[in-house]
Order: sequence, then C-alpha cells, then structure tokens
Amino acid sequence: MPSSEKFPYRLLTPGPVPLFPQVQKALAEPMIHHRTPEFQKIYARVAQGLKEVFCTKNDVFIHTSTGSGSMESAIVNTLSPGDKIISIVSGKFGERWAQIASAFGINVVPIQVPWGHALDPKDLDIALTKNSDCKAVLVQACETSTATINPIKKIAEIIHHRPTLLIVDGITAVGAMELPMDDWGIDVLIGGSQKAFMLPTGLSFISLSEKAWQFNKISKCPKYYWDLASEKLALSKGESQFSSAVSIIRALDVVLPLMTGPNKSKMYSRINALAMATRAAGEALTLSVFSKCPSPSVTALSVPTQLDSQKLRSNIESKYNLTLMGGQDSLKGKILRIGHLGYITDEHLLASIEILYLALKDHGVSSLSERHLNEALALAKKHLKEYPLVEPETSSAL
Ligand SMILES: *Cc1c(COP(=O)(O)O)cnc(C)c1O
Repeated sequence: MPSSEKFPYRLLTPGPVPLFPQVQKALAEPMIHHRTPEFQKIYARVAQGLKEVFCTKNDVFIHTSTGSGSMESAIVNTLSPGDKIISIVSGKFGERWAQIASAFGINVVPIQVPWGHALDPKDLDIALTKNSDCKAVLVQACETSTATINPIKKIAEIIHHRPTLLIVDGITAVGAMELPMDDWGIDVLIGGSQKAFMLPTGLSFISLSEKAWQFNKISKCPKYYWDLASEKLALSKGESQFSSAVSIIRALDVVLPLMTGPNKSKMYSRINALAMATRAAGEALTLSVFSKCPSPSVTALSVPTQLDSQKLRSNIESKYNLTLMGGQDSLKGKILRIGHLGYITDEHLLASIEILYLALKDHGVSSLSERHLNEALALAKKHLKEYPLVEPETSSAL
C-alpha cells in the first residue's frame, strides 16, 4: 500500500473492517493455551455475550472459519440430501448459499429477486404453498453484494406456523441492526467476525432454535468438523471441541461490551448514522443510492454511467490509499460499496468523502465543485453529530 501523511491507509469496506486500537492490542497479547482456567473464563464470558448479541437463550457456537463455513454448517446440521429447500437469491451471497446446499445434494428451489431489491414476502408465501414439502428457507438478512436488507420479521411470520426452518445469514446484520433471533422466530442465525463483529477474519458464529435442533436429530448430511451436536456437548463443559482461536476470541471479549447492554442500541444508531451520512454525501456528490431497501451496514452508490466503478475504486486505492469495494457480476463497474462497520471515526468517513470527491474530479466529473463537497461534508457531519463512535473502555482492554 502506498502511504503518505496526507493519505494514511484507510479501509472502508463491508468486511474486513477497520479494527479498534484496543482490539489490535488484544490480538498482540502473548499466546495462552485454550485448555486453561484463564481461557475458559474468557470463553464462558464470550459465550454469554454472544447469546445477548443474538438475542437468544440457546447456545451460540464459534466456528474457526469465515462466514461461509457457518453457511455450510447451517445446512449440514439441519438438512439431509434430497430435502427440498427454498433459497432467496437476491445477490452474490444468496447464490453462494444455494450452491453450498446443492453441493450436499439438497433440492434447491430458488426465488430470484432482482439485485438491489428486497424479497417481497408474498412471493415466499406463494412458493411455500406450492412447495409444502419445503424443509427450510435460506435468506440473507443483509445481502452485502447489493447493500440491501430483506424483511426478516415478515418472512419469519410466514414460516412460523409451517414445518419449515428459517435459516438466516446475518453476517452483515447480527450486531449491526435489530435481528432478535428468539423473538422473531429465526431457527438458524449466523454471524461473521470480520463484518459486524469488528474483528479480523477467522471466526463465524451460529445458533440453532429448538425447532432446528429437532431437525438436527434426523439430519443426514455428512459432517465432522461442523458437527454442532458434539460441539454442544463440549460447550456444556465450557470447552470447544477443537483448538480455539485464542487471539481472536480475546479480541471478541473486547468488542462484546460494545454490542451488548446499553451500548447495543448506541452501536445500531452509530452504524445507521454512518449509513445516512454516506447516502446523503454520495447524493450531494451527484451519485445515487443503488438499493431500493438500503442496509445500515453497507451502502452501494451507483456511479455515473460514463464511469467504470472498478477503475474508480482502484485509482482511489492507488492514489488516495483508501480501499472501497466495487460491484460483482452484473454490478461490476456500476457501483461502489462503502462499509459502515468497525472502528470508523467521524474523521475517517469525512476524509473518505473528500477522497471520493477528488477521485470523481480526477475521472472527469467536471460538474462537481467545492460547493458540492462542502454540502456533502456538512450533511455527513449533521448525521454523525448525535451518534458518536462507541468505543471500548480502555481499562477493560488493558
Ligand atoms: C461476507 C459475507 C459472507 C461470508 O463471506 P466469508 O468470506 O466466507 O466470510 C456471507 N454472507 C454475507 C451476507 C456476507 O456479507
């Protein structure tokens, strides 16, 4: 990465996300063994904290994997080859989940949703009536590739009285927005460390409802490393089945106080304020919000048709030292994605808005002037003002 005083390296993607200094410090601590009373104390504390973040009375398990590992775990722990499921495909991650299910011989009935739109719950109701033997519905709470949220509460209401599981990918949602697992009746919920949990890549989280555990008893998908029934046994003794990722779990212990108790709603508000600030600033710079149902955790901005967002993002990276994301597949070249998760100070976002302005000018958007930039910055500041960054207590991190 090039570095300069004016443009220190900045990361502003939906995952991985910038790390709090206190998290970086925790990650640098000397190693301890995972089968020690010292670590077991931390493990018990994070197990409790995770339940609070998921809003569940059931266990939340930690997989040493990226989010996709928990997507696979959700399937192999509840389903059997030959089962029929409905998969909501509203973007790249929906496609991936359908592929994982297919790899295990599951009969996938996709509901294709135009990218940038949310699922219309009526379409699900119709599909479930047509496919009454459907065992599960897979859906992203936030489809990160299009920066769009799906109406999980309404989806849950449709599924609740049916013999069907609601399996939700909350990787950019759990910890970033309201998604109470037990209250809404979500049967399997997953989260990911490098997204809303504000940690390095390497952990994912998964919880199963009572109903999902009933499915687990008869599930015939092959599993060994992902076997949650044996993980449950280990957790009941305060342990993990395999070696724990000690460093990341100690860092998790630093961020959980930000995601629970009175900080929880402050965190949601801060993330939402970053999203509102980004949308308003983007529009002031003549870009438009791509999603019809925009997410608080990530914003997709459409670039003017004469521009290629891939070139724009790579020039932003090489010239201004800021990493944003572009679009994938049909959205390649068309959108820029900006994340709102992790250690994002006001200065971090405001500097990124200024960089976006400079880069758009570099790319020949000559209609932009200092007036647009000032308006973008003023709007962003207004949104951020009431919702300051929520930070770890330094004392607990030291
Ligand atoms: C990031 C992400 C994933 C998982 O990606 P990994 O690279 O395996 O961590 C899955 N679903 C969504 C919605 C995501 O944002």
